[in-house]
Amino acid sequence: MALYCHRCGTALPSGARFCSNCGSVVASAAPAQGRHLVRPRAGRQIAGVCLGLAQAYGWDVALVRVLTVVGCLFTGGLVGVAYLAAWVGIPEEPLVTPGAYPPGV
Ligand SMILES: [Zn+2]
Repeated sequence: MALYCHRCGTALPSGARFCSNCGSVVASAAPAQGRHLVRPRAGRQIAGVCLGLAQAYGWDVALVRVLTVVGCLFTGGLVGVAYLAAWVGIPEEPLVTPGAYPPGV
């Protein structure tokens, strides 16, 4: 499985924890199973809702973002309201410093 940095898009070797180009934490290096639904700090576009959902469920973040925008346009803002609800309801990712990983990562 190809691994890419969520911030700059650089291709990374499998198992990489940090991007060799921009230095951001590569969250997808962690196993997808058991991953908590959080809004990541690195790589977010607006509030990190799409990125958080994509990482938590193993989806493609670009696809989630496109579907969200298309959904906003064609549901009369219903998806936008859901996005705002998720923004409020999904907790922000705790600060991660290199060398101090949370348990299970
Ligand atoms: Zn990067």
